[in-house]
Amino acid sequence: MTSATTDSRDTTAPVAYPPGESFAATANADAALYDLAAADRLAFWAEQARRLHWAQPWTRVLDWSAAPVANWFVGGKLNVAYNCVDRHVLDGHGDQIAIHWEGEPGDSRDITYGELRDEVSRAANYLTELGLRAGDRVAIYMPMVPEAIVSMLACARLGLTHSVVFAGFSPTALRQRVDDAGARLVITTDGQWRRGTAAPLKAAVDEALGGVHATVEHVLVVRRTNVDVPWTEGRDLWWHDTVTDASPEHEAQPFDAEHPLFILYTSGTTGKPKGILHTSGGYLTQAAYTHHNVFDHKAGQDVYWCTADIGWVTGHSYIVYGPLANRATQVVYEGTPNAPDEHRHFQIIEKYGVSIYYTAPTLVRTFMKWGRQIPDAHDLSSLRLLGSVGEPINPEAWRWYREVIGGNRTPIVDTWWQTETGAIMISPLPGVTATKPGAATAALPGISAKVVDDDGTELDRGAAGLLVLDQPWPSMLRGIWGDPQRFRETYWDRFAGDGWYFAGDGAKLDDDGDLWVLGRVDDVMNVSGHRISTAEVESALVGHSAVAEAAVVGASDATTGQAIVAFVILTAGAANTGDALVAELKSAVSQEISPIARPREIHIVPELPKTRSGKIMRRLLRDVAEGRELGDTSTLVDPRVFEAIARG
Ligand code: ATP
Ligand code: MG
Repeated sequence: MTSATTDSRDTTAPVAYPPGESFAATANADAALYDLAAADRLAFWAEQARRLHWAQPWTRVLDWSAAPVANWFVGGKLNVAYNCVDRHVLDGHGDQIAIHWEGEPGDSRDITYGELRDEVSRAANYLTELGLRAGDRVAIYMPMVPEAIVSMLACARLGLTHSVVFAGFSPTALRQRVDDAGARLVITTDGQWRRGTAAPLKAAVDEALGGVHATVEHVLVVRRTNVDVPWTEGRDLWWHDTVTDASPEHEAQPFDAEHPLFILYTSGTTGKPKGILHTSGGYLTQAAYTHHNVFDHKAGQDVYWCTADIGWVTGHSYIVYGPLANRATQVVYEGTPNAPDEHRHFQIIEKYGVSIYYTAPTLVRTFMKWGRQIPDAHDLSSLRLLGSVGEPINPEAWRWYREVIGGNRTPIVDTWWQTETGAIMISPLPGVTATKPGAATAALPGISAKVVDDDGTELDRGAAGLLVLDQPWPSMLRGIWGDPQRFRETYWDRFAGDGWYFAGDGAKLDDDGDLWVLGRVDDVMNVSGHRISTAEVESALVGHSAVAEAAVVGASDATTGQAIVAFVILTAGAANTGDALVAELKSAVSQEISPIARPREIHIVPELPKTRSGKIMRRLLRDVAEGRELGDTSTLVDPRVFEAIARG
């Protein structure tokens, strides 16, 4: 990795940001981790697993004989909830705040580790009373209220497998997930706050389940908004009449390291969502290890905030399991970033003195669109580290994030991982790695990644190819729920001879050997035989001051095979000069990347189609560009966006 040199495009912006001296001096991570892991990978992971409390030690670190289904920490037993809650209380930290919960309407609640233990124990006692037993599945369909986290931990405590379904999903999406997992219980709320209005949620559960459901015996309802709810006597239960009255004494039993912990459906960016299965010991080990090193988290000092929803894997690993295993004090916010106005996130950072902030590029670009006067109106000096996840972050947004939010001092960790990987895989280590706008930089110690061509040959620096993980890792998925064939076909058949995991993302190493994730392989375009990544063209477009967001797809073209079609949203102040602007943008791309990357068409549109987790759905734009009927739109925020795009 290089020290600061100069970018060819922008003569003032450094290409890389070496770690600050004072940050490095106290950093959790140090360069020796790479050497340790390289010397003996399994011994390294065994060392990381010692972060946890094991009721029974493992006899073998990894058994890969049933590949691609891994068996990590063979014979070990632990209780995940005990590790995330009880042990901190037993260690004398019962009064430490675990969660600063901030409700959307402005109510708030501080929950200590001691209180969290009591709540989780009550819920565990009541779920036991309902007859739920280890291995049963529970669907959790809740907004970001503390009871959602309590529910997940109560399931973990009892060995129940939770399936969290994002509360913004439709009854149909909920129904599919409940059916697929065969859930016995659904936990929900009466309603949820959305920009000042109480929207019903329990009603959606009723719609999803219909009359009598084959597997769901009960619906447990937390009161949050006081909206009226339909009620089925005998099936429906109020949390405050049941869990709240249960005993706070509960002894956690240990479960096998490979006991199923949760099922979580991927965001559906590339097709029908997959029900990813994760287990206990390896998952918690890697969640805790990465949270400690990638976020430089210091228990009892930092105030950590991950802005994801618990409906996504980021919420599982970096709101619930990783931070709580590491005894974090964290902010959990219920609402949207613009409720009641665009200052909300910055007010929260100020109010709690947030020191570590982890969000998605889509939100950074939204902040840019709103303008820097908003963050500038707040004291953000408590921040010492920023993180990004979910999509490639374009260098323009990265620089803005560091300068405007991070006051030009904070390292940024651009973390690449997936629902399937369970935890962060590729990221800078703050205090060790020189960070570089747009680059995820390198596989973490203990993780092995390669960039290869279609035949599996490792590529030289500068060449774009496929990202593969050539060694098993502790938090890897153990399958697709109920579909072992899809599991093999999706991830393992592509490089079956080598036994590598195919991530579905494109990547390249730059001249310094730093890794860049280029977006999904399905999105890589082939223009006259040249492979061009959507992320690079989008980044060039967003680099223009008139463009706030861009989505690029390859549409079939009679002469070039594929041609580049771009959809752009303009920044608030930009003048839409029509053809003149389009011509200017096309030449900006030619100049920045190459004339081959010059888009055939650029459409100025009011909105882009996004998944509920905020990612652009390029496959649907490709359908539009090629004049096809739209594919699966079930995880889209707003299917009506296509009417706006057609008008645009
Ligand atoms: P589906 O698999 O159903 O299409 P999805 O891939 O969007 O949905 P997730 O598991 O939530 O579901 O997202 C993982 C993907 O997000 C990665 O494969 C990658 O494409 C993208 N991603 C995540 N973090 C980064 C990052 N830091 N840089 C680049 N891409 C990222
Ligand atoms: Mg995916």
